[in-house]
Amino acid sequence: MSDNILLVDDDPSAIRLLSHMLADVGNLRFATSGEDALRLARESAPDLVLLDAEMPGMSGFQILEALKADPGLEDVPVIFVTSHSEPEFELSGFELGAADFIAKPVSAPLVVARVKTQLRVKRIADELRRIATIDVLTGVTNRRGFDDALAHEWRRARRAGDPLAVLMIDVDHFKSFNDHYGHPAGDVCLRAVAQALASTSLRPADLVARYGGEEFVVLLPQTPRLGAEHVAHSILAAVQALTIRHDASSAACHVTVSVGVACYDDASECWAEPSADSRAAGLGRGHSPLDLVRAADKAMYCAKRAGRARAMLLDICDVDAPQGVRDARRPPRLVPV
Ligand code: GH3
Ligand code: MG
Ligand code: MG
Ligand code: MG
Repeated sequence: MSDNILLVDDDPSAIRLLSHMLADVGNLRFATSGEDALRLARESAPDLVLLDAEMPGMSGFQILEALKADPGLEDVPVIFVTSHSEPEFELSGFELGAADFIAKPVSAPLVVARVKTQLRVKRIADELRRIATIDVLTGVTNRRGFDDALAHEWRRARRAGDPLAVLMIDVDHFKSFNDHYGHPAGDVCLRAVAQALASTSLRPADLVARYGGEEFVVLLPQTPRLGAEHVAHSILAAVQALTIRHDASSAACHVTVSVGVACYDDASECWAEPSADSRAAGLGRGHSPLDLVRAADKAMYCAKRAGRARAMLLDICDVDAPQGVRDARRPPRLVPV
């Protein structure tokens, strides 16, 4: 896949010159003001920004600060293109997080070399960030990746007024599975369960993660309770369909899971209207993303107590009133016509 480079300069002839030099290096987009640059970057994060330091309106330094303050853009490398050659100027740029400097007038081989170097570093950094959020045993997202995604999706959902759901999934009687079949077989089982979960959450934004030992979570953005209950029942069915024998389980003769569904949608009593205010967007009438996980966990423990191999639901508003837990409804069967 080709790298995306954003060229920012108030002088269109400078942009023309750079785009000529970089035509074969990546996909190029252009902006002649700070506002346009930030808008384009937020639309789709570039892999590299070449930024004119001297511009009317927002200066290059201010644009750099805005990029570094944006959680979605803070890792995008920025090369300053400038006619300033004083060390103090470069130093303050590096302090703000600039990746490199290119001196005006620009020389084609140096521009290409510096750009390719930064793109190479960016690719390695992206790969390291990806590996850091993968669970080694099962290949799904790890706890850290889930925590980041939950914080991000919560803010997005609160801004847009979208529903959000979290499922907590725990393998039933897994200690006795390990005791009976051994840990290596337990590990194989966890991998199969992870794959079964991945096969049931099919939307691009859905996220399956390993939360702890034999506990998984599924994050379902833009999903109201009915959809979340549907996914929960698909999960029960997909794990059943693995038919992994479990002679030491009292719930069934094969491996099963218990599922806790937590939901926050416009049927929630404490539903808050969306807010464009970024601070208010973090809130949901006093509730936090952690409450969604707590609610899923409580619902899951109720499913355990009720006999395992089932799914139960708790609204985030009832997180401290767990008598609100109820069975997750089964999706209506499709009647053949
Ligand atoms: P319950 O139905 O109440 O969930 O019973 P349980 O035995 O599954 O619950 P408990 O939390 O007591 O046990 C979890 C067990 O999961 C403990 C450990 O044997 C097993 N386990 C946790 N992490 C791993 C792992 O990475 N690999 C394997 N093989 N087993 C694990
Ligand atoms: Mg300029
Ligand atoms: Mg457990
Ligand atoms: Mg368990």
